Amino acid sequence: MLDLDGSNYKAIPVMRLCMRLTDSIALVGSGDARLTDPYDCNIYAIKSQEGALLIDTGGGGDTELILENARHTFGDVVGALITHAHADHAQGGPELQDRDIPVVAPTPSVPLLTEGTETELGITAAKRDSVYPDDYEYSHYTPDQTATPGSILELGGRQFDIVQIRGHASDHVAYLTEVDGLTACFIGDAVYPDGSISLLNTPGSSLAAYRTDIENLVGRGIDALFTGHGLPRLRDGQDSIDQAADALAGMYTPPSRT
Ligand SMILES: [Zn+2]
Repeated sequence: MLDLDGSNYKAIPVMRLCMRLTDSIALVGSGDARLTDPYDCNIYAIKSQEGALLIDTGGGGDTELILENARHTFGDVVGALITHAHADHAQGGPELQDRDIPVVAPTPSVPLLTEGTETELGITAAKRDSVYPDDYEYSHYTPDQTATPGSILELGGRQFDIVQIRGHASDHVAYLTEVDGLTACFIGDAVYPDGSISLLNTPGSSLAAYRTDIENLVGRGIDALFTGHGLPRLRDGQDSIDQAADALAGMYTPPSRT
């Protein structure tokens, strides 16, 4: 398990921790909420015909607890989709594969997942800023299936629109699906409910890419915006996207979350 310097986080026994958000969606892992390891992004479970599907996998430090939370809520985890290859979203992948749970990754993530350098993955800068410890090592792996931006993926009886939204990272996608009468958008680290973006000073992060790709999410009628960190937004998610699109059309650098 990863250790967060200065944190009082303690490994806790499996307690079936989760936050039920809709009938068919639950937050089953989150470093921000300390549901799970501090290095974890938000990990969502979606009910499917075959069991639970995960959106993002976390940093790999608390996989068993994430799986137990999902299992308790929607049944065994039958697959996971990652939004991009950053460690806090994708490093639960090898642990899932060890348990015969297939991992779906965006097609552009494959080179990063299989052989990305620490610099390409943003880890060099993260170590420099003590976001990750100096001895941290990224575990490369090959996803079981790829999701091509612009296509539709069917998994567990659910359909996911694979939407390219680069800018935070060069391989970033969002997953759109209809759940419980809502148009749900699993947005990863691309846009936050206040309309801010997440521009990094690392290879692969690009304001120009944000300007191009934000259009892919305009006019989608998004209700729920399930973010990779912080609180999701269950209604009026399109307003957040439109706010980001408006800021990206202006002269100045839009507000960016650190
Ligand atoms: Zn990221």
